[in-house]
Amino acid sequence: MTDSTLAAPAAASGHNHLSARILALAGLGLLVLDSSLRIVVWNQWLASHSGLSATRVLGTPLFELFPELAGQRLEQLVLSALQSNLPQRLSPATQRAPFPLYPSGSWGGERIEQSVTVTPFTEGKQRFCLIEVSDVSRTVDREKQLRGQAEALRAQSYVDGLTGIANRRHFDVAMDRELRRAQRNNGQLSLLLMDIDSFKAYNDHFGHQQGDACLTMVAEAFAGMLQRPADLAARYGGEEFAAVLPDTSIEQAALHAEAIRARIAALQIDHAPAAQRPHVTLSIGVASFQRDQLADVATLLAAADSCLYQAKRNGRDRVQIHTLPPA
Ligand code: GH3
Ligand code: MG
Ligand code: MG
Repeated sequence: MTDSTLAAPAAASGHNHLSARILALAGLGLLVLDSSLRIVVWNQWLASHSGLSATRVLGTPLFELFPELAGQRLEQLVLSALQSNLPQRLSPATQRAPFPLYPSGSWGGERIEQSVTVTPFTEGKQRFCLIEVSDVSRTVDREKQLRGQAEALRAQSYVDGLTGIANRRHFDVAMDRELRRAQRNNGQLSLLLMDIDSFKAYNDHFGHQQGDACLTMVAEAFAGMLQRPADLAARYGGEEFAAVLPDTSIEQAALHAEAIRARIAALQIDHAPAAQRPHVTLSIGVASFQRDQLADVATLLAAADSCLYQAKRNGRDRVQIHTLPPA
């Protein structure tokens, strides 16, 4: 690098030399614009990641050199930094790769992901703007990797992140296992599907966060009602819950369902004015395994779901039990 990278005359040439060395060694892009947005500093890092030498770019207005940047967020940042005299930052989340910069020596292919800061300063009577460009490709990759891992872990997990009870995945596995067992042993298996009444109104009135708190309260209360180790309380979907009850007849399941319904009503959680009831309630559909007619997961679920729908139609805050058509 030559002294031509530093257009502003330094007071002492020794300092000038030192600054030039530092600019050449810096492991990030350092670029200075004057008040007319002309490039007055362009360090080695930028040269080696853009393929444009300092001699080539010095004196050129930045947004003429890179017309694609004109009118973009970066230009706004530079102008507002110069105007307000406050530093600005362009995060990779806003624009991942504003400058056409590539891994050293390969000017083509995929751009480096960049984090850009813009710092205005005054030297003598002149306004300048320092732009620092760091390569965050690795950080971004790492973040992506971590996010991917977190997602994979969540998917593998059996616990619902909000309520702490079993999640849908756990429900599916348990349902499948218990149904096979019931078929093998000619045993009993019941399923409860429940849905909070007018929950959209609750969210609309109290906000989503309180909605989440309400879901958690209901989930805990309902899960606490299931006593046997083989019973499973799960969050089936948004505001829908399910209970898998092995070795339980439809009559016993109906009693459980009624007890759960009463327990949730007794919590007396204030509901939204637009809801049908003053307190938060549940509607519940109940269905049981039947060797001939309700023998697979999909059919059993559909039966419980249509009972749930009936409970809603009949006024909510109630239990509806699946009855088989007479043989
Ligand atoms: P119905 O009595 O017929 O069940 O009426 P509803 O309003 O409960 O039914 P609907 O399915 O229209 O609305 C369900 C609402 O539940 C809408 C959705 O925003 C809310 N919901 C779903 N999942 C969550 C969640 O995780 N948190 C919160 N706060 N709300 C949720
Ligand atoms: Mg629902
Ligand atoms: Mg609902």
